[in-house]
Amino acid sequence: MAGPSRLQWEAGRAPDALWWQPDRDAVAPPAAIVQPGPRVPKSFVALARAAACHRSADRWALLYCLLWRLTHGERHLLTQVGNPDVARVNRYAKAVRRDVHKMKAFVRFRTMAEPGFEAPRYVAWFEPEHAVVEYAAGFFQHRFANMRWSILTPDRCAHWEGGGAIWFSPGTDKTAAPAGDVTEEAWRVYYRSIFNPARLKTRAMMSEMPAKYWRNLSEAALIPGLIAGADRDVAAMEAAQSAHDTLRCGATPETPGTALARRAEAAERGSLEQLALRAAGCRRCGLCSPATRTVFGEGPADARIMLVGEQPGDAEGLAGRPFVGRAGRLLDAALADAGLDRRALYLTNTVKHFKFTPKGRRRLHAKPDYDEVRACGPWLEAEIDRVAPDIVVALGATAAAALLERRVSIVRDRGKRIDWHGRCLTLTVHPAFILRSRERRDDEYRRFVADLRAAAAA
Ligand code: SF4
Repeated sequence: MAGPSRLQWEAGRAPDALWWQPDRDAVAPPAAIVQPGPRVPKSFVALARAAACHRSADRWALLYCLLWRLTHGERHLLTQVGNPDVARVNRYAKAVRRDVHKMKAFVRFRTMAEPGFEAPRYVAWFEPEHAVVEYAAGFFQHRFANMRWSILTPDRCAHWEGGGAIWFSPGTDKTAAPAGDVTEEAWRVYYRSIFNPARLKTRAMMSEMPAKYWRNLSEAALIPGLIAGADRDVAAMEAAQSAHDTLRCGATPETPGTALARRAEAAERGSLEQLALRAAGCRRCGLCSPATRTVFGEGPADARIMLVGEQPGDAEGLAGRPFVGRAGRLLDAALADAGLDRRALYLTNTVKHFKFTPKGRRRLHAKPDYDEVRACGPWLEAEIDRVAPDIVVALGATAAAALLERRVSIVRDRGKRIDWHGRCLTLTVHPAFILRSRERRDDEYRRFVADLRAAAAA
């Protein structure tokens, strides 16, 4: 509490019994406020320290009034942010803190030779909106602890000798501070180097760095030119960046789709290899998105027998090859028992991508629907056209229905030889069906081998 105010306080004078007159000396002595006195909330002390630096003539009357109320039954007054006195003191404190923030940002020291000292003194001129020099001096003491410096303002001047205590002197005018020094150009070079025209936001910049501070900033002379040339500089940066990218990365890398298309183009026209490469990039139905790989058929291009399954399973989808999972191993065994060499056969599926339902980390088989079978039909037709087998063996109802384009009962038509587009088509079960037939597995396996043997005999 300032001296005269304290005397009034000790005399027990209520706020409305006092009248106030403007300071003759505009400088607030905030250190005096924290001297022992009435017990008040800590938040009031911090608030009062800031608000006391405000230039408004009524600040002491306001602070005295708040102090009186806080100590006369309104201890929680500061929590009433809508109260006019509380709102006003908060507004004053906020303005002062903002002014301190600007002071920290815009004080520019310049060197000044000082008789008797080898090292120069650093002197800054600043024009704060409020009487904040003493309030902000501690910041500069810590930040520039090893320097000897002075901050001159019209109200009050702060001085630090590199140790001891900060001392203050009355305000002065700008002529007491050096107008420039050798560091000016360094400031400008630094500012020019950190200015990024691509991130220029003129309104935000003007709000953060109001023009009233420019006259004391050596770099401010650059600002209009930098703003005016921002568009041109951004274009130059983009041009330089694209040149840099070309140098660093070389040609743009091929996407997987482009690489597949290029390889397919280079492959023998109409060959199985070309078909497989084209199918690898197929997007005709939604099965390609969750699936791992396209599983095209495999086997000799002149195979006499073609086996057609339903769709690849989990293992096939990962390996990218047909019939390599559990069902595939059962098929291998059955083929061997039927006297057939897998390497002489062409093995494929009706649908080339694995359809599944995720369950935890597992992918459970899901039956392809009619649209998916139809979408994939052209690939199977192309394989049959290219291989031109004498015998086609449909493994399961999905393959049989896709080939015959109608609903098929394997139970009813199994083992029959059907004349199909000039070829022999026979139907049997899918090896996965045998795996699922737990109790009748041996019987089913024997029937399956017999079906394959019959097909081979055909
Ligand atoms: S399932 Fe067949 S049609 Fe669908 S994306 Fe795969 S290859 Fe193409």
